[in-house]
Amino acid sequence: MASRRKPIVWSIAGSDSGGGAGIQADLATFHDFNVHGCTVITAITAQNSFALGHISVTPRRTLAAQINALDSDLQADVIKLGMLADESVVSMVAKYLETYKGFVVCDPVMMSSTGGELSKNLSACMIEKLLPHCDLLTPNLSEAEAILNREVGGLDDVERAAADIVALGAHAVLIKGGHFDARNSERHDYWTDGIDGFWLSGTNVDTLNTHGTGCSLSSAIAAALARGYSLPDALVIAKAYVSQGLRMAVQLGGGPGPVVHVG
Ligand code: PLP
Repeated sequence: MASRRKPIVWSIAGSDSGGGAGIQADLATFHDFNVHGCTVITAITAQNSFALGHISVTPRRTLAAQINALDSDLQADVIKLGMLADESVVSMVAKYLETYKGFVVCDPVMMSSTGGELSKNLSACMIEKLLPHCDLLTPNLSEAEAILNREVGGLDDVERAAADIVALGAHAVLIKGGHFDARNSERHDYWTDGIDGFWLSGTNVDTLNTHGTGCSLSSAIAAALARGYSLPDALVIAKAYVSQGLRMAVQLGGGPGPVVHVG
């Protein structure tokens, strides 16, 4: 019997020793979506549920070796980008993406939910080198503000900010958390490609256990796309997946617990 091909999704991201975010969350998500996950580890973080300690950025040679090993054998149907740590990682990944033909989902990770900086002052470098290769960028509000170097306030401004990020070079953007000053609104996340745009609604899940939410959402979008769903469907599926993970999330250590992966 011919073997049925399983989609392959790469995560180019950092390792979270606490197991809640980063590469660990990405692989758990890929498993739930029945896609094969490959990893290019950009940095090793030492962290638990309440603090980010040490960060060791992967040496350039090791980064290149991971990319080359995968590219020569396990080519990606979709690539998800997470923590890119520093300018040298951004440059190398951007260079690889110049020839990559598949879909790229980029979660422009800057801060850990425990408060530490995961990627230092990357906005300028990301805008110049990476954004043109991103089919979908998924910033939260503070990441959108860092990219635009201005505050974003109010629902209209979220729509303007999303359009501004597309004007900077990303093919499309999903700004997460559009509800921040409209708590009774059902409008949560805003997507635009600069021509069309829509709000994704959802119910607020009242929990402090949100570690890994952004990683899991971007990985779920990447995996759903690799499974053949259209982008609007992939966004809805990924949002439902993460909302359920938040509803089931529990505190494990002294700090916020991780989103639960439920296949
Ligand atoms: N990537 C790594 C390696 C992390 O450790 C974290 C958070 O601690 C993130 C990404 C971002 O996590 P979140 O999905 O909570 O935004």
